Amino acid sequence: MSDCIFCKIANKEIPATVVFEDDDLLVFMDIGPIIKGHALVIPKKHYDPVTKTPDDLLAKLHLTAKRIAQAQMNGLGADGVNIMQNNGTAAGQEVPHIHVHVIPRFEGDGHHWNWNAKKYDDFDEMAELADKMRKHL
Ligand code: AMP
Ligand code: ZN
Repeated sequence: MSDCIFCKIANKEIPATVVFEDDDLLVFMDIGPIIKGHALVIPKKHYDPVTKTPDDLLAKLHLTAKRIAQAQMNGLGADGVNIMQNNGTAAGQEVPHIHVHVIPRFEGDGHHWNWNAKKYDDFDEMAELADKMRKHL
């Protein structure tokens, strides 16, 4: 993907502050951190979205996110960590190259996700949606 910004970062065509890399993955600092220390875990090869990413690579991305979370707790003194992965513009994805956000959280850091919980009309509506998903597993 010649016009993909994360491919360019993986190929070292544009700079990034790298935290970790191996043959398959690169971890670098997000340039617009939700909280300072926010890092992104990407595969060096272009995949998107999550549903088209090979299982073994996806597992490695998330296991690496776990290591980064531990490093944020031990190295930055984070009290907690958000691990997030957006797919599609409807989900707020801006860069269409799979990436896992690892965001360190500190007591009283002032960030709120605006987690606006909704209500189902009734139990049947919730059960119907569960049934629709179940049929595609
Ligand atoms: P998403 O909305 O899940 O696609 O997240 C994309 C993330 O990439 C955002 O948090 C951006 O701040 C980050 N980002 C975009 N361009 C760069 C860049 N050149 N270096 C580091 N992070 C970037
Ligand atoms: Zn890419």
